[in-house]
Amino acid sequence: DGKLYTRSHKRGNIEKAMRLLVEHGAKSDILIDAHPHIGSNKLPKIVGNIRSTIEHYGGQVHFDSNVTDFLIEDGAIKGVTVNNNSEHTAEAVILATGHSARDIYYLLHQKGVRLEAKPYALGVRIEHPQPLIDQIQYNQRQREAALPASSYRLACQVGDRGVFSFCMCPGGLVVPAATAPGEIVVNGMSMSKRDSPYANSGTVVAVELEDLAPFRQHGIFAGLAFQQSVEQALFNHGDGSQKAPAQRLTDFVKGKVSGNLNGSSYIPGLYAAPLHELLPPSIADKLRQAVQIFGQKMKGYYSEEANVIGTESRTSSPIRIPRDRDTYMHSEVRGFFPAGEGAGYAGGIISAAMDGQNVARAVKKFLAPVLR
Ligand SMILES: Cc1cc2nc3c(=O)[nH]c(=O)nc-3n(C[C@H](O)[C@H](O)[C@H](O)COP(=O)(O)OP(=O)(O)OC[C@H]3O[C@@H](n4cnc5c(N)ncnc54)[C@H](O)[C@@H]3O)c2cc1C
Repeated sequence: DGKLYTRSHKRGNIEKAMRLLVEHGAKSDILIDAHPHIGSNKLPKIVGNIRSTIEHYGGQVHFDSNVTDFLIEDGAIKGVTVNNNSEHTAEAVILATGHSARDIYYLLHQKGVRLEAKPYALGVRIEHPQPLIDQIQYNQRQREAALPASSYRLACQVGDRGVFSFCMCPGGLVVPAATAPGEIVVNGMSMSKRDSPYANSGTVVAVELEDLAPFRQHGIFAGLAFQQSVEQALFNHGDGSQKAPAQRLTDFVKGKVSGNLNGSSYIPGLYAAPLHELLPPSIADKLRQAVQIFGQKMKGYYSEEANVIGTESRTSSPIRIPRDRDTYMHSEVRGFFPAGEGAGYAGGIISAAMDGQNVARAVKKFLAPVLR
């Protein structure tokens, strides 16, 4: 969506990533805004421009090309197989397939490449009318025209787990984000004008490795199996479409299926469901407590005018592909560079961009003797 703020300021050169976006068509405002945002309607053109630059400098982009195997010999990567039929050989391979390429994790595991389980977070999207959030944040009955749609950021501790808002989208849309049939996953985005009548935010509970005991038979894939089980349970409760289960926020807390739901930006549509029962108790119970705490911090937030929508499950990767701190290379596979969110080293556009810069530099260093 192009919300470009990050908490990982120490990981690399944020300004360089921002300038690259400006050079490829983003407004220069992002260089000075406190909460820079490009917008889902503007991003495709910018990404296309970045692709043109890559091609201009000799890079190639292969569409419809799925990596289906890794060529590994004597502890070193030799390339990849694409679409089960063509081999691309290389001295170095950067793997940046994102946090939802589950097939890649299973493939690596099957090939004996070491992976690690990693904590992440899981929960719901909560959608309010934007004017309600504006009233709370600006203390104005109606937002002045010059003011942008307002946002919020909330966090609290419930027992020993953090619960926090994530990827808040003022004037935004809740969108379907499943990557395989048979699952319900939602996410959020906004157009650059942030002018939809709704405000939504991921609201998630930290999932630590000790929470995954019931999935222990899945070994390092326990977190992934937990994530998948929630996504599939929500899908199985529905009518086989991408309609998402939802509940008024107050009904979610009271444990009651909503007689009717509030309007929503979610285009496939919502249906009333007992999310308080469908979500695992470890998640639902903490969310139910947290939203009441959020209501005390932000008067008006805990409102029957808000919908809870399931499920926000892809906040970050449940798996890490371990790499050496200095060389950025997998500790056991020479020439193999896991990068970005799917490798567990980023959470968002800017941190993934900075990780990309660091890995690119590491690959250059690794290849220097070969290129000489
Ligand atoms: C709706 C939505 C809105 C978001 N909005 C924001 C936002 O505003 N700000 C923010 O910071 N983050 C946002 N995010 C998260 C952000 O998109 C990710 O954090 C970021 O894209 C991670 O970058 P990455 O390069 O590591 O992986 P990705 O961008 O996920 O890229 C992985 C790529 O690998 C490809 N791939 C996967 N498997 C294979 C394979 N086997 N062979 C070949 N290619 C493969 C995928 O098709 C994809 O192109 C949003 C995510 C969603 C879904």
